[in-house]
Amino acid sequence: MKLGWREMPIAGVMFQPGSSAEYKTGDWRIEKKPLIDQERCIRCMICWLICPDVAIERVQKPYKNYQESLKEDYYHCKGCGICAAECPVDAIEMVEESRVVP
Ligand code: SF4
Ligand code: SF4
Repeated sequence: MKLGWREMPIAGVMFQPGSSAEYKTGDWRIEKKPLIDQERCIRCMICWLICPDVAIERVQKPYKNYQESLKEDYYHCKGCGICAAECPVDAIEMVEESRVVP
């Protein structure tokens, strides 16, 4: 059955608290996605703090002298590039969407 416009759900409305994570905003990304270089990253957490979509995760995965790693959440990243622009050591590169990342 086809829905009329009055029956269609309004986009972006949260009907339950704590449910925004269910919106896979990564589908909105159209050009590039961030790729974090764990070797260059100094764990300053700027990207983690400023990402408007909370799409940088801190994971308990030790890397050399660091206790944790930073990970891209492509299900929610919209590809705005703010993280790459603000990283003080250029550890985030915006790469083509088609590039397969490890
Ligand atoms: S802003 Fe750059 S250096 Fe800082 S945690 Fe993010 S990737 Fe690492
Ligand atoms: S590109 Fe934008 S949305 Fe994606 S992780 Fe970086 S700051 Fe967040």
